[in-house]
Amino acid sequence: MAFGQTLATIDLSALSHNFTQVEKRVGGRKIIAVIKANAYGHGAIAIAKHLIKSSPPAMLAVASLDEAIILREAKIAAPILLLTGCPADRMGEVVSYRLTPTLFDTKSLAGDGRLIALSRSLKLASRKVTVHLKVDTGMGRLGIAPSQVVGFLKKAEDFGIVVEGILSHFAEADLSDLSFAKEQTATIKNVITTLTKKKGCDPCEGYDPCEMTLPFFHLANSAAILHFPEAYLDAVRPGLMLYGYSPLEGKKSFTLRPVMTIRSRVIAIKTVPANTSISYGRTYVTKQTTKVATIGIGYADGYPRALSNCGEMIAKGRRVPVIGRVCMDMTMLDVTKVPKLLVGDFVTVIGQEGKEAVWADDLAKKAGTIPYEILCGIKGNMPREYVGA
Ligand SMILES: *Cc1c(COP(=O)(O)O)cnc(C)c1O
Repeated sequence: MAFGQTLATIDLSALSHNFTQVEKRVGGRKIIAVIKANAYGHGAIAIAKHLIKSSPPAMLAVASLDEAIILREAKIAAPILLLTGCPADRMGEVVSYRLTPTLFDTKSLAGDGRLIALSRSLKLASRKVTVHLKVDTGMGRLGIAPSQVVGFLKKAEDFGIVVEGILSHFAEADLSDLSFAKEQTATIKNVITTLTKKKGCDPCEGYDPCEMTLPFFHLANSAAILHFPEAYLDAVRPGLMLYGYSPLEGKKSFTLRPVMTIRSRVIAIKTVPANTSISYGRTYVTKQTTKVATIGIGYADGYPRALSNCGEMIAKGRRVPVIGRVCMDMTMLDVTKVPKLLVGDFVTVIGQEGKEAVWADDLAKKAGTIPYEILCGIKGNMPREYVGA
């Protein structure tokens, strides 16, 4: 593909490979493919369409209603889970777009209108809507207390709402010390035990769980999928690993393949003498005669400003340092050792050239962040080409 300044190449065969790695680990369990944040910067519509075509996940998951609507408008019919729920006044859209919201507070039952609004629009649409219920087992963010689950299910039943799934989320499943993840898993397993009580038990709070179809349970994110099989339950929710990265620090042994490569053009080259300052704030001053290449990518594209004076790119197969501050649309490199580099050539910003590689996790380390933030930061308007379908 011809391209202007910058191009992201998304390798769909790597995506399929990574999905297969999830399948291999979790056996026949359902897979909920997490494609929030524009599929971690990879382009949600294309990622969803490829997954559905090659190895359909049980569900797709996005954060918000608006992300889900973009997928529906692109004719994606698969079940979509809304991980951050939905505002009460937009529940009608949940129904009309056939989405599955996550409910996560008791207020939605006590009359703030969320469930009521939902059940009203249900009647309007005369269509049953399913929801997932989030339980807080230690994240301290969304979710009702484990002790509230039975009561919640009863009320949901009264409203005619089908609770199809119950989920929780790990706070630190990426650590090698899994003790807190084990506590969280034990908590959700207790909920499962409560709900699977056989018929004949005393109905709790007037509600007999034996009479309903048991919801399916899901807890595991990429970290847990990679090293904590105890948490697989009925379904898993991989995000990061689908895109080829492991959230586990210092462990590169997993056979994941990064899906996104970013290349950007050299828009100017000049040779400057020693003692020349480069970029805003003059944080870099050349020590000798230096060949400086200006690259057409900057923080407006999602190349973090935190990589000023510490990032690296690959030019003609050679690793070269970012010098001076990263600008909004440009970044400067010291290419003194790359005599053949010309204006119009491209350099690799994220990816591999020969033996050299700079991946999102390498950049994350240098920028003091996580690969998630590097990937999600890649702007939606960056031109993307999809290969390997
Ligand atoms: C983002 C997210 C995931 C995916 O997490 P990864 O670490 O990217 O695998 C799973 N579940 C929930 C609730 C999430 O918000």
